[in-house]
Amino acid sequence: MKAYLALISAAVIGLAACSQEPAAPAAPAEAPAASAAATEAPADAAPASDAAPAEAAAPAAGNCAVTVESNDAMQFNTKDIQISKACPEFSITLKHVGTQPKASMGHNLVITKAEDQEGVFKDGVAAGPDADYLKAGDSRVVAHTKLIGGGEEDTIKVDPAKLADGSYKFVCTFPGHGALMNGTVTLVD
Ligand code: ZN
Repeated sequence: MKAYLALISAAVIGLAACSQEPAAPAAPAEAPAASAAATEAPADAAPASDAAPAEAAAPAAGNCAVTVESNDAMQFNTKDIQISKACPEFSITLKHVGTQPKASMGHNLVITKAEDQEGVFKDGVAAGPDADYLKAGDSRVVAHTKLIGGGEEDTIKVDPAKLADGSYKFVCTFPGHGALMNGTVTLVD
């Protein structure tokens, strides 16, 4: 009601002003409106702070991403990437924490169905370094990072729904790396 009155009086002032100098009265007219807004602010703030605990669920959104490290010793730092089904999409960042260049110690992270891993690896090695050790257009590949060297990283997004119909694995397709650099991809709630 107060705000309503403020608007009315502002309008009246405004109308009166229009017949004279349009620009000048703007400042006094805004003053009541601003204080009205200020009085309302605490009321708005309360629901906002109530919302904060709900947003604490946002860290769950933080679970929609994982970083996998790879190193100069031909290793990933995990043997199992867990992907929450609840995530609309899931980010996987592959980080090369070593210093060797990708020509000699390159790594990628390639997700396939478990039964496709060997074939994707073999064809990837055959495809060579210019192809990042992946056969062009390989439909068995669900997702993959690019090939990276020391100090580099690459992030990919995976749709968890695409991992629901079987068991999935990840591997590095750099020649000779597959035996050590591989693991499972597990869907979790
Ligand atoms: Zn590798």
